[in-house]
Amino acid sequence: MAFPEDIGVEFVCPKCRTSVVRQPDAFICGSADCRLKYAIVDDIPRFLVDDAEQLAPEEWRQIVEVHGVQSGPSEA
Ligand SMILES: [Zn+2]
Repeated sequence: MAFPEDIGVEFVCPKCRTSVVRQPDAFICGSADCRLKYAIVDDIPRFLVDDAEQLAPEEWRQIVEVHGVQSGPSEA
C-alpha cells in the first residue's frame, strides 16, 4: 500500500493541524504542545485523537530532532 505522502500529500495531526513525522509504526505530531502518536495498524494510519498516545516531552523531542521538524502549523 502506498501512503499518500509518497505521492506528495503530507499528513497533518487531526487535533492541531501540525505536520506529522513518519515512523516505522506510527506518525508523530510535530507540535511540542500536542505530541500525539498515531499508530499505523496493518499499514493504515489511525489518525484518531481518541486512540492517540501522547509522548513524553523527552521522547517526542528525540524523534522530531532526528527529522529536523520545526514545531508550528506551517513550514515557512
Ligand atoms: Zn497535534
